[in-house]
Amino acid sequence: MFDLNSLNPQQRSAVTHNKGPLLLLAGAGSGKTRVITCRISHLRQQGVPAEQILALTFTNKAAREMAERVQEMIGRNATKGMVIATFHSLGVRILKSNIDRLGFKKNFSIYASADQQRLIRDLLREIGADNSSADADQILWRISNAKNHLISADSYQVQDRDPVSSLVATIYPRYQKALKAFNAVDFDDLLMFSVQLLEQHADLLKDYCKRFQYQMVDEYQDTNPVQYRLLKLLASGHSNLCVVGDDDQSIYAFRGADISNILDFEHDFPGTKVIKLEQNYRSTGNILAAANAVIKNNQKRTEKALWTDSGAGAKIEYHLCTDGEDEARQVMEKIHSEKYRHKLNYGDFAILYRTNSQSRAFEEQLRYENIPYVLIGGQQFFDRKEIKDVIAYLKTVQNPADEVNLLRILNYPKRGIGEGSIDRIIRYSADQNISLWKVLQQVNQVPEMNDRTAAACLSFVELITRYRKNFKQPLRLLETLQELFSELKLADEIYRQEKDPQAAKRRVENQEELLNSMSTYLDRTEAPNLAGYLERISLFDDETVGKNDKESKLKLDAVTLMSLHSSKGLEFPVVFLAGLEEGFLPHKKSIYETFDIDEERRLCYVGITRAQQQLFMLGAQQRRKYGKLEQREASRFLSEIPDTLLQKSTDKNSATQQPEDEAASASSFFDNISQMFGD
Ligand code: ATP
Ligand code: MG
Repeated sequence: MFDLNSLNPQQRSAVTHNKGPLLLLAGAGSGKTRVITCRISHLRQQGVPAEQILALTFTNKAAREMAERVQEMIGRNATKGMVIATFHSLGVRILKSNIDRLGFKKNFSIYASADQQRLIRDLLREIGADNSSADADQILWRISNAKNHLISADSYQVQDRDPVSSLVATIYPRYQKALKAFNAVDFDDLLMFSVQLLEQHADLLKDYCKRFQYQMVDEYQDTNPVQYRLLKLLASGHSNLCVVGDDDQSIYAFRGADISNILDFEHDFPGTKVIKLEQNYRSTGNILAAANAVIKNNQKRTEKALWTDSGAGAKIEYHLCTDGEDEARQVMEKIHSEKYRHKLNYGDFAILYRTNSQSRAFEEQLRYENIPYVLIGGQQFFDRKEIKDVIAYLKTVQNPADEVNLLRILNYPKRGIGEGSIDRIIRYSADQNISLWKVLQQVNQVPEMNDRTAAACLSFVELITRYRKNFKQPLRLLETLQELFSELKLADEIYRQEKDPQAAKRRVENQEELLNSMSTYLDRTEAPNLAGYLERISLFDDETVGKNDKESKLKLDAVTLMSLHSSKGLEFPVVFLAGLEEGFLPHKKSIYETFDIDEERRLCYVGITRAQQQLFMLGAQQRRKYGKLEQREASRFLSEIPDTLLQKSTDKNSATQQPEDEAASASSFFDNISQMFGD
């Protein structure tokens, strides 16, 4: 049941505002998303049919959570027929019913990044530009950018003195033509074509405006021009558009998000009712003060006066760790102690970082300590194919009788042992009752084995045998692993197989992370050897997060790991903000080569404001890169937080002690929290 009295007066006036444009411009944790869910419930209670309600947001997770919250308030039946979705899934809906008007068939496919890459490469080859300096990725990026700004292939303009843009001008129309021939659209087309349909067909526009009488958009600060245009079209006629957002949390400029959409809303929609929310219900006073202190360094923003009546709470702890492994260890210690002290669940903790590759050290430590976790927006490190491939080598070297791993690598990277030959080897091994490893050693006896394949098998045997010997030298484990990498040329193989160059780069980086993991093991272990390392790794093979079942993962009581970008809109009692170092946060350079310090600061603000009760910030003095240690510098954002809010520590043993009174006030908060969670 939903009760208007659970809202403050400003929230209530937003929720009960039924007609005309509404802008809710407010800081983090002030209840913007809650206003949307309550407004949906209120509209239903006022008798508005579910089909007339449209609520849009940016990620699937956020859309799902929003739908769940509404269901909890008014029951599942009352939500049937409403659309609570991402912009892109709204685009799919519109195209599914109407794309024939653009000359496509209704069973169109949606091209994901790898398909797009392949197509662009083919087109480059076709026009004889496959050796040009621009790669497929760069061209796709430009095309995507054009589409986000509603620039079609016909209207694309060549920029002076920009050779890439003239290449794009040639490729873009061919790309669109080819997509159409394949009856396919790409991700950006979902929105651009939706806009085209509504602009070119008055009857469609009329239908959709009539259908969606009540529209709401969360995280409005991150809309880009095509999304803005779509909203403007859908709201034409009734202007029943309610948008909520926070200019301080705009973090998608690199994808064309335009902050002026929110700042100019009042001008674009005359008669807009503007409501500001200033009470923060999420965080303690200290956390809020730190967030405010950081974000005020951005020049272009609307001034906000966020306050909370929840008391100062514990200070923010900053831990300067010796290295990345120490950082992960300190987070684990804190999870154990805070969980015990405040009767928390694992699900109350989140570890946030700027780039996905930072998850490795945390995952390793979480697995080591048997703490369940969920990784959002990334694959678990040791479950990644490229990591499993390398580990399969190590396992085979350690134990050639391990046939699962042996078969995994027998022809990886490709060495000319085809599937037919592998089948013959397996059959011979079964018939003769000898191990695969033995068969490979005497491969010439296998019937119908051609000479070249036999030679490939023997050289595989030679390779494994040599590494069996080399890995026996405990002092050279890291070097031997490095030699294995370079001998196998795994990076080349990844670039050959992975069509998306960015993905290939990430996979190669992941493999390099494995060197760091080995080097950590060596540092920590008195008598290291390959078997010991593999033992540690195989601990990680234990499924701690339920088998590939996304739903059960979400319900599992587990620590959450995710990037700052994915954390938008979410909240956790305890947040660890990791890697507060120059180069990480602010990040050096995104792959799109834009560096915007204000956007990095907004990311930091998003991270800080996810915390409800306790915020830990961590950074390392040095980190491993390619297995070597590199000096790091503390993030500039740290120095923007007043010392009075921070409790700094370089020594983990003294880090946890708080003055008595603060500890007491913190625990009363946590007692409330654990009551809330029914602990
Ligand atoms: P963000 O900017 O991070 O997206 P938000 O403004 O959308 O934050 P919400 O997530 O809606 O904020 O709310 C933050 C927290 O405050 C939630 O736990 C919500 O339930 C709580 N909250 C919001 N309004 C109230 C209220 N009037 N009384 C009690 N709790 C509230
Ligand atoms: Mg929100």
